[in-house]
Amino acid sequence: MRKRQEITVQGIVQGVGFRPFIYNLASRYSITGEIRNTSNGVTIFAQGTEQNLEQFILTISSNHPPLAKPEIISVEDICVIEDELKFTIEMSQTGTQKRISITSDAATCEDCLNELSNPTDRRYRYPFINCTNCGPRYTIVFDVPYDRPNTTMSEFKMCNDCQSEYDNPSNRRFHAQPNACPKCGPQLWLCDSEGKKIDTKDPVAKAVKLLESGSIIAAKGLGGFHLAARADTDEPIRRLRERKYRKAKAFAVMVKDIKAVHSIAEIGKICEKLLTGAEHPIVLCAKKQNDILSELVAPSSRFWGIMLPYTPLHKMLMDADYPALVMTSGNNTDEPIESMNNSATNKLAGIADYYLMHNRAIYTRCDDSVAKIFRGEPLLLRRARGYVPVPIKITRKSNLDILAVGAELKNTITYLKNNEAFVSQHIGDLKTNATYDTFLRTIEKLGALTEARPVAVACDLHPAMLSTKFAKTYKDLSIIPVQHHHAHIAAVMGEYDINGTIVGLSVDGVGYGTDGAVWGCELLTARRDSFERSGHLDYIPMPGADAASKEPWRMAVSYLISTLGFEKGTKTAKELLEIEPAKINAIAEILKSKINCPSSSSMGRFFDAVSAISGVCFDNSYEAQAAIELENIADKEHPDAYIVNITEKDGMLILAYKPVVEQIIADIQNNVSVPVISARFHNFVVEALAMLAKKLAEKIGTNIVAISGGVFQSDLILDRLVTKLESENYRVFFNRRLPVNDGTISFGQAIVADAVLAKREKNKKIHT
Ligand code: ZN
Ligand code: ZN
Ligand code: FE
Repeated sequence: MRKRQEITVQGIVQGVGFRPFIYNLASRYSITGEIRNTSNGVTIFAQGTEQNLEQFILTISSNHPPLAKPEIISVEDICVIEDELKFTIEMSQTGTQKRISITSDAATCEDCLNELSNPTDRRYRYPFINCTNCGPRYTIVFDVPYDRPNTTMSEFKMCNDCQSEYDNPSNRRFHAQPNACPKCGPQLWLCDSEGKKIDTKDPVAKAVKLLESGSIIAAKGLGGFHLAARADTDEPIRRLRERKYRKAKAFAVMVKDIKAVHSIAEIGKICEKLLTGAEHPIVLCAKKQNDILSELVAPSSRFWGIMLPYTPLHKMLMDADYPALVMTSGNNTDEPIESMNNSATNKLAGIADYYLMHNRAIYTRCDDSVAKIFRGEPLLLRRARGYVPVPIKITRKSNLDILAVGAELKNTITYLKNNEAFVSQHIGDLKTNATYDTFLRTIEKLGALTEARPVAVACDLHPAMLSTKFAKTYKDLSIIPVQHHHAHIAAVMGEYDINGTIVGLSVDGVGYGTDGAVWGCELLTARRDSFERSGHLDYIPMPGADAASKEPWRMAVSYLISTLGFEKGTKTAKELLEIEPAKINAIAEILKSKINCPSSSSMGRFFDAVSAISGVCFDNSYEAQAAIELENIADKEHPDAYIVNITEKDGMLILAYKPVVEQIIADIQNNVSVPVISARFHNFVVEALAMLAKKLAEKIGTNIVAISGGVFQSDLILDRLVTKLESENYRVFFNRRLPVNDGTISFGQAIVADAVLAKREKNKKIHT
């Protein structure tokens, strides 16, 4: 008995080799019919024996191409068509088709790698090899639908061989938009430090030789330039650090293969899967005792930031004498990653000895993503290449399109459209001109790809923030300001579809508060559309405002003076801090004058102060250095905590810091070791946050606690807090698919704006 069925499939099924897969599958099971693209997926008409149809459908969900994420929405029996002989792919009619979803860039697949290393293959050692299962997507596309003319590959005309692959439904390169070969596709070349082309037959082999001998090479990759140097000897890394003005911050390394990763890091199965998946992020992996990598790669860190080769070029660069390469973003501090040839030779002059460049243009720059394994599952710290622009499915409250412009540091932007949130790649610190420009262009580009028509723009509450100022230029749209820490918690609510009134613990470095103070350790009674502040770390003056974040010793002076009084505090500061007494006097005077000393409840600054007071770190050469070094040194086995003191004032819970500072000074006087002091402080933070959460939970009658903010990038704090609260039957949620740091803010702003718009609509209905 023959049957005919209409199968509706949604999810990621376009531009990922899904149609040729179905075509081949149909022929395997003697199925006739057709497959068509629709505005939100594909429809398959399949005719065959009942048994074959069953197998056919089963294989769709179990054995689909690696980049596809098909969801079978429905299977319906329809009338059999007599005399049907073939299975065909119906070409999408342009114009009628609304949106072809664009997927993210994907690491080179096994099949392509095999061809790359096969001397008889026509793409042997061709650095731009790709197919429908791998290669560039988001970084090369500038408009929808995702077709070759809308990508930076449009200037390369396919040769006959490539074209016939592209046209053949049973070929792995059927409709592979960036399809190319050495005859017709992009080319690679090597330049010296002046940007002059070096005459060589095999620029990659030459680059490998140069790297082997210690050169620093700027290599153009998928989302931008990397600066590469061998990672097993000190000298090139020392040179790179000097030239990049990067004293201590860890560099990411690219390692040959997964076997090589095992020799330098402790990793499990889940980590292995994350490292080798289509996204190929940088993964923080616990260091293993080894003499393979130079300690200068990641001094004073417990982790290596490891990634595996994810482009054909990387694969060839790793075929060398060295076991690993430092692969750091090709940029100047705080500037976006370089993505254009001219600009790279200009901006990276003085850093790179050579440039490995090509003529496949990068339309959208995209940094490497950064992830780690936390409690057995991946957790993203920076969401960019490999993940963007795949949307995050959410439950909407309104049905209006929304743009959210994010925070000023670690900026991302978000569009909400239908039930999807399109969160941009990590953009960075907007105070740098070039980054601000990327911010503007990303709003434009992602807007074009999503075809969103925002009616509202969500932004931060801070009127002077660059993203807020920009939001206000949309004169016709409704502007919805969202408090920073509320956005953090709303982001968790959005990610896990949490509703109602819950406890929010939003703990980070800085966010503008409703009272104008610098918030940063906030206990919120949170709903999607609104919040009340229910508790915080006691206020302390931040001498010199923003400057205090760069110089932890300033906060140490402030904490000591607040706790011990002016005279004794200043004196103790001079005893404990390795800072010139004159500078300490100057800060003491600033504190006395109260000029440019905003009040702050920042937990990040408290960590800074404790790190400086205990002699670990006085200056931050990179963000959160003082806190990271303090955590690294902590005695993880030490059980005690400094005593927590929480008082209630007009319904507001205030977490005191003075008793903690007093206990730390006493410990220092009693020669308690720094690892123990650090442990006691970390344990105090966990105890205090848990206690705050529990007090509020009881008051408002919920057992749901949402956690977000940069402080939770510390595994120690997050893991212990979650364990503690869960052991007392709280349900604890924290960002995973989006970072816990400010990379999540635009998404949170959008979630709040969505709820606010829904509420407005509802009120309008009541009033009319
Ligand atoms: Zn491939
Ligand atoms: Zn070709
Ligand atoms: Fe934050």
